[in-house]
Formats: sequence, structure tokens, C-alpha cells
Amino acid sequence: MIKLHNIHKYYHSGEQPLHVLKGIDLHIREGELVSIMGSSGSGKSTLLNILGILDNHDQGDYFLAGREIKNLKEKTAAHLRNELLGFVFQSFNLLPFKNATENVALPLYYQGVGRKERNYRAAQYLEMVGLDHRANFMPNELSGGQKQRVAIARALVTKPKVILADEPTGALDSQTTQEVMSLMKDIHQLGNTIVIVTHEQDIADQTQRQIILKDGLIVAGKHHHSHIADDQAEQDEEEILG
Ligand code: ATP
Ligand code: MG
Repeated sequence: MIKLHNIHKYYHSGEQPLHVLKGIDLHIREGELVSIMGSSGSGKSTLLNILGILDNHDQGDYFLAGREIKNLKEKTAAHLRNELLGFVFQSFNLLPFKNATENVALPLYYQGVGRKERNYRAAQYLEMVGLDHRANFMPNELSGGQKQRVAIARALVTKPKVILADEPTGALDSQTTQEVMSLMKDIHQLGNTIVIVTHEQDIADQTQRQIILKDGLIVAGKHHHSHIADDQAEQDEEEILG
């Protein structure tokens, strides 16, 4: 689903270019639940932004769902983001003047889905995250955990290929963190591919694979599932992608 080969990223705002990613190789298969760990400033968000086509890499190859991501015009990038990806952020990023249903329905609006269908599907996904009773509430009338569940419903409503979450529980207390993580695991059980950036070992331990970033490179991560299943999944994916 996601293939990165020798990805490099530089930032140019200081006097010296800052070499943040120094040759990332990564393969995430369809249906995997993966975490990205690493100390503050190690490049986790940078990597996730590249995966999310929110930022460009400077060198290397990126394939998402069989499509090469390279030198895209912003319009194409926006289209691919909307079609293929769902985003969840630490700060929720809900629109403050739209209620829960309208927030969840927004990506469908950008896809050109009609109002009736949008509202129907938004209601469906709000129910899935257990918030049908908060459909008309504004973001400032929701708790942190409820806001994040709205954001998760919004990330799912377009049936994306991959969900990318940057510190999704970073602003939540430990009980709410666990609730949001349970929801993530339920979503994974439905077959979604999910990448979670986190600095919490508790969260990473609940994923199938932990990818650890250090000094701009991936240092070996822990695997939680068998390599035989991996090889089969890889073969299946190659067949689908051709
Ligand atoms: P945290 O755990 O604190 O969120 P992170 O692993 O997500 O950290 P990044 O946000 O990817 O780290 O940042 C990696 C490095 O790149 C940092 O040294 C940061 O200062 C730098 N950086 C990030 N974004 C930019 C930018 N837009 N311009 C210049 N430098 C940046
Ligand atoms: Mg970050």
C-alpha cells in the first residue's frame, strides 16, 4: 500500500539546510496497523506529512496504492489526499462553526457528493464512533475525546485507503486515550491500513509493528505478527498492483 525507497527530506529555513530524513525505506502493507516512534524532532511528522502528500520529499521514491507520488501539482495532490487518505491530528482540526455532522460530511462535499447523501453518510459514521447523540453539537460543546471521535469519523467517511494519525491521543487523558485507541483497533479490524505517530509506548504496543526513527533513519522496529503471513500479504498485494 505504501512503499518508500531512500527518501530524503531537507528543510531550508535556517542558514544551513536541515537534513531531516536521510534515506527512509519503508513498506506498509494493506491492512497493517503500524506506529511510528522516535524522540521529539526525529522527523515523525515530517515523514507522516510526506506520506500524506502534504509535503514533498527531496529525493527517493514514494508509491501510494500503486501510484508514484512525485512532483504533483497541488490540485492533483489535493485530489489524491481526498480520494486515498484520511487524516487525524493531535489538535483535532475541526471547523469551529460547523456541527459534528457537518464536520464529518466535509470531505464528501469536496468530492462533490450531494447534500442528502453527505448527511446520510456522516450520520452513519458518527454512529459508528458512538456519537449519534451529539450530531448537532458544535466542536466547543464536545469533550476532547468526542472531538477526536468526530475527527476519526471524518477521516473514515470517504472510505480512504490509508488513515494517517499524528499523535491522535496527544491531547487526551489516559482513559480517553484508551477509548480512542480501541476505536482505532476496531477500524483496523474492518480492514483499514493505519499509521499512527506517537511518543507513547502504550499506544505503540497496541499496533502490529513499531517503526522507530532515529537520526533521520529507521532503526529496526518490533514486529507483532508472523513473517509467513507477511510474505503472503506481500504476494497478494503484488498481484493486485500488477
Ligand atoms: P515531535 O515529536 O516534537 O512532534 P517530530 O518527530 O514530529 O517531533 P518533526 O516535526 O518532523 O519532528 O521535525 C523534525 C525536524 O525538522 C525538527 O528539527 C524541526 O525543527 C524541523 N522542522 C520541521 N518542520 C520544519 C519546517 N517547516 N521548516 C524548517 N524546519 C522544520
Ligand atoms: Mg510531530
